[in-house]
Amino acid sequence: MDSNEIFSDDKKYIASTYARFNIAVKEGKGSVITDYDGKKYIDCATGIGVNIFGINDEVWKEAVISQINSIQHVCNLYYALPQVRLAKLLTEKSGAKKVFFGNSGAEANECAIKVARKYSYMKYGEGRKEIITMKNSFHGRTIATLAATGQDAFHNYFAPFPEGFRYAEPTMEGVIGQYTDKTCAVMLEVVQGESGVNNLSPEFLSRLEKFCKQRDILLIIDEVQTGNGRTGYMYSYQAFGLNPDIVTTAKGLGGGLPIGACLLFDKCENTFTYGDHGSTFGGNPVACAGAVSIVERITPELLLEVQGKGAYFKQRLSMIKNVKSVSGMGLMIGIECGKQPAEVAKACLEKGLIVLTAHNKVRLLPPLNIKKDEIDEALSILNEVIGK
Ligand SMILES: *Cc1c(COP(=O)(O)O)cnc(C)c1O
Repeated sequence: MDSNEIFSDDKKYIASTYARFNIAVKEGKGSVITDYDGKKYIDCATGIGVNIFGINDEVWKEAVISQINSIQHVCNLYYALPQVRLAKLLTEKSGAKKVFFGNSGAEANECAIKVARKYSYMKYGEGRKEIITMKNSFHGRTIATLAATGQDAFHNYFAPFPEGFRYAEPTMEGVIGQYTDKTCAVMLEVVQGESGVNNLSPEFLSRLEKFCKQRDILLIIDEVQTGNGRTGYMYSYQAFGLNPDIVTTAKGLGGGLPIGACLLFDKCENTFTYGDHGSTFGGNPVACAGAVSIVERITPELLLEVQGKGAYFKQRLSMIKNVKSVSGMGLMIGIECGKQPAEVAKACLEKGLIVLTAHNKVRLLPPLNIKKDEIDEALSILNEVIGK
């Protein structure tokens, strides 16, 4: 099969929900991807922040294959070691008390929404059920997480949505304007990924935390994209010394396999009881074994490396002609350059570089272990495409 045959069969048989780039990915190693025509690319997308230690990573592969050789699925009516190991690691890295595993970011956020509402119900009774989310947020594609997503464009066609979400500008005035005696939680991304790699203000974040604590409003931080070392911290909130009540994560966690986690801190560690929530595939042993091999390697040394690479990228990018601003944290980077992001991405692809877009920005999510010469090659292609 060559790429063109794949393109045409895809158009024929796959539901047309994705505007795909002209590349059929066959295989790869580290930060290099090869397509079905044998063309090679530097990967600054990692499948939207998923292949966090690159492609075909030996450590991850060994962990996954060894688990497959034991058993591929254990239902959640029984105990299994990989899930327990991963949950223990995640609590150590975050300070959370307990973990619920699902299969995606959206599911992790669904879980967070349920926990926040039940926490409030058990303490204050019915009615205190509203969750404030931020304008330009993105929390997933299920009906509830779409409702939580603060972008009108996502609210076409699929009504009715569940009630109980209010959208605030990410400022104290914005949140106070949406706050009522029915508010049970605030949910946010520290760096808004899908809407353009927008960093929220650290001052807002710390004032918001105090505001929430004083009113027993749960602070939910969506680390689906920012988590797992991506921003140069295990979780991006740790850069600002925040103390969330619930943290959700997915994308990079599994190193390539589907997994999502909802981390429950002190207040809500025992909110869920038997029967409150569940998932057939949640905490799959193969996904968990792979994830353990990922999380174990997110060490303080690695995080410093990610911060260093991020700073280098940012500095070099800001020197490119036409670049107006560079946003993000660590190896989650947004580039504003006055050109159509999709056009930039297309031109980069032709020259052998895979990048993403996010609203008005070109977005880079390279592997955390990308090499210096690969970064330089990516920068040189970006310079050719953006700087002209
Ligand atoms: C990708 C993403 C989600 C949704 O994750 P899925 O695994 O696609 O369900 C939720 N929140 C944020 C911040 C994301 O970037």
